[in-house]
Amino acid sequence: MTLQAVSPFGARRYNAWNEHVKERYGGRVQKVSIEAGFTCPNRDGRLAVGGCTFCNNDGFTPLYLERRQSITEQIEAGLDFLQRRYPETRRYIAYFQSYSNTYGEIERLRACYEEALRHPHIGGLAIGTRPDCLPAPVLDYLAELAQNHIIELEIGVESCNDAVLASVNRGHDFATSADAIRRAAARGLEVTAHLLLGLPGESRQSMLDGAARISALPIHALKLHQLQLVRGTALARQWQSDPATVPLPDELDCIELLADFIERLSPAILLQRVGSEVPPSMKLAPSWNLRLSELAPRVSAELERRGSWQGSCYEA
Ligand code: SF4
Repeated sequence: MTLQAVSPFGARRYNAWNEHVKERYGGRVQKVSIEAGFTCPNRDGRLAVGGCTFCNNDGFTPLYLERRQSITEQIEAGLDFLQRRYPETRRYIAYFQSYSNTYGEIERLRACYEEALRHPHIGGLAIGTRPDCLPAPVLDYLAELAQNHIIELEIGVESCNDAVLASVNRGHDFATSADAIRRAAARGLEVTAHLLLGLPGESRQSMLDGAARISALPIHALKLHQLQLVRGTALARQWQSDPATVPLPDELDCIELLADFIERLSPAILLQRVGSEVPPSMKLAPSWNLRLSELAPRVSAELERRGSWQGSCYEA
C-alpha cells in the first residue's frame, strides 16, 4: 500500500464514473436502452449456437423496451420513462445494449446509430459488443462519430483467464479482448470493459490477477458484474444439476472480493459500476439480493474499514 493517508476519491474511495460525468458534462448522463435486433456470432451459428453459458439477454433488458418499435419509438418510450424518473438528467445517450451491436454490415450499423443520433435529445451512443466484432472499418466509423458525439464503446471481456472463457463458451480469448481494446483506443475511442467476477473455474487469485491485466490496457472505464444465475441459461442448469460446479459467493465474500479487486485496479480507470442487478423474476441464485444502490456503498464502507481505495495496492 502507498503511504498516502487519505483517499484521493473522497468517501466513495473509487474513481466513480458518475462523478466524472457530472464534472465533464455538467450533470447526469442517462442511457436510453435500445433493442436494435442485432444478434451475436456466439448464438447465430457463426461461432456457436448456444451462446455464453451465463447469457440470457432478457435479464438485462429494461421493461420499457418493446422490440417491435423503431429505434426512434424506443427512444421516445425510454425518454418518457427516464425523464420522470431522473428529472435532473442533463444529457441522454442511446444504449445499444443487448447482444453484439457491432455485428452486422456497416450500412446497417450506420442506419441504426444515425437514426438514434438524429433524435434531438440524444447526444451520443453507448455500444455494447464482443471484442471479435470490431473490424477496422467499424472502429474507423465509430472514431468518425466520436468527433461530434459522445461514443462509449463497451466491450465484453468477462474474464482475463482463457480457461474460464473457454469453459463458459465465450468463443474468444483474452488476447482478442486486449487487441480490440488497443485498436479502439489507438483511434481515440473511449472503451468501457465489462468483467464478470466469479465465473466457474475462476479462483480469487486469478480474478485479482485480472485487475493487473485490465489495468495494463488502455481502457477508460470498467463495469464489474458479480455472477448471478439467470433463469434459462446453461449455467443455471449446470448449477441446478450440480451446485458444487458453480460456487456462488455470499454477500460478504462478494464485497470483500470487490474491495480486493478495486485496491489492485489502476486509479486511472473509471468504475462505471461495481455490480449488477438481475430482475428477481429472472434470477435463480444466489439468494442474497443487494440493489446496486446498496452494494456500492457497502464496497466503499469496506474500503474505508481497510483504510484503502482504488489503486492503493496497484503496481504500475
Ligand atoms: S453474452 Fe454477449 S457474446 Fe455471449 S452469447 Fe450473450 S450476447 Fe453473445
